[in-house]
Amino acid sequence: MTTRSIAILGSTGSIGTNSLRVIDALGDGYKVRALSANSSVELLAEQTKKYRPDVVAITNADKAEEFRSLATGFTGTLLTGPESLVEIAKLECVDTIITAIVGAAGLPAVLEAAREGKTLAIANKEPLVIAGQLLMETARKNNATILPVDSEHSAIFQSLQAGRNDEVNKLILTASGGPFRNATAEQIQNASLEEALAHPTWSMGPKITVDSATMMNKALEVIEAAWLFDVPVDKIEVVIHPESIVHSLVEFIDGSVIAQLGTPDMCMPIQYALTFPRRVKGIASHLKLDELGKLTFEKPDMDVFQALKLGYKVAKLGGSAPVVFNAANEAAVEEFLKGSIKFARIVELIAYCVDTHTVNPCHSLDELLQADAWARETVNKRIAE
Ligand code: NDP
Ligand code: MG
Repeated sequence: MTTRSIAILGSTGSIGTNSLRVIDALGDGYKVRALSANSSVELLAEQTKKYRPDVVAITNADKAEEFRSLATGFTGTLLTGPESLVEIAKLECVDTIITAIVGAAGLPAVLEAAREGKTLAIANKEPLVIAGQLLMETARKNNATILPVDSEHSAIFQSLQAGRNDEVNKLILTASGGPFRNATAEQIQNASLEEALAHPTWSMGPKITVDSATMMNKALEVIEAAWLFDVPVDKIEVVIHPESIVHSLVEFIDGSVIAQLGTPDMCMPIQYALTFPRRVKGIASHLKLDELGKLTFEKPDMDVFQALKLGYKVAKLGGSAPVVFNAANEAAVEEFLKGSIKFARIVELIAYCVDTHTVNPCHSLDELLQADAWARETVNKRIAE
């Protein structure tokens, strides 16, 4: 059996730790060659002792000394600083990269992995939102394989295998609706951090959990799906499905709808990205439909969840618009998590940035990064006003 040599970018996060659980269960045939974290050096040191990777990267260089003192016995290479992620993407000893860094910070490494023709198990949706065209073109040119890890996109990817691409009528993304699905505008206005972090069905990192509460996550996923599957956004629909059992669906031109169902456990899509095109026994628990009783679906209220409406708008505008949309969200969520702004302010700030930004076509990575920086600066200035 050939061994898959794996790097995990963001191994200490929610997707990163679940990926390691999946790899443990897959056993022989999967070897962890590289790990990365930003500053969770204690967990990174534990992972290093267990998996003995050749290379470890710590993007927050100030934490390197502490890591060294914790990771006793580590004889591999320690890389530090944001550039270290790009170095991991270039490693010859790695063929598969799980990209599980939160936010735009993962973009340079994701692009480099595509340039190197690697297999990317992509969880990190923000690079697809801000540089989808560049990333997909780079992957095509260099024969890189991009496999979705995001549960909805994994479901679409699996459902698409029931027909040909030119037979697709539309993609239907499901959304749990988050903790504020039935909340009034006033409750949302005054939502606390604790309430925003109380996701009803999925256990995830803090940023994506807040994104689920604003429905920004679904807006980002619509754009992610458009790039991954080369489908225009007006052929991508969102439906609220509070049980999070039907992970997404594809409607074909004959009216047949094919869906993928499963328990809400990220280990399932992570594993599929690692074993594709095969399936093997996994660690996610199996569905018991008779115990679930019923599955429900409803139309999202675009007036309550303005982020979703904005997502469609920026996707159609293209160029720098999705970049600004994503960066404004990252900056605003960071402030919300620090407690410096109210929940409802997140989407207000994003809308302000999108409305005041002059869209440009963004042909290069530099132009994308300029738009990203403009949005972060605009959010911070606006908060300080
Ligand atoms: P977490 O916050 O749990 O983990 C993020 C990881 O990225 C950690 O390893 C963290 O290191 C690292 N990291 C954070 N900031 C930086 C930075 N500036 N530079 C380098 N590394 C950094 O996030 P999740 O695992 O929840 O999400 C990761 C990605 O996957 C996101 O894009 C999210 O949208 C997507 N995703 C997540 C799902 C989930 O179930 N969690 C589901 C579908 C998609 P440290 O621990 O040191 O801070
Ligand atoms: Mg998702």
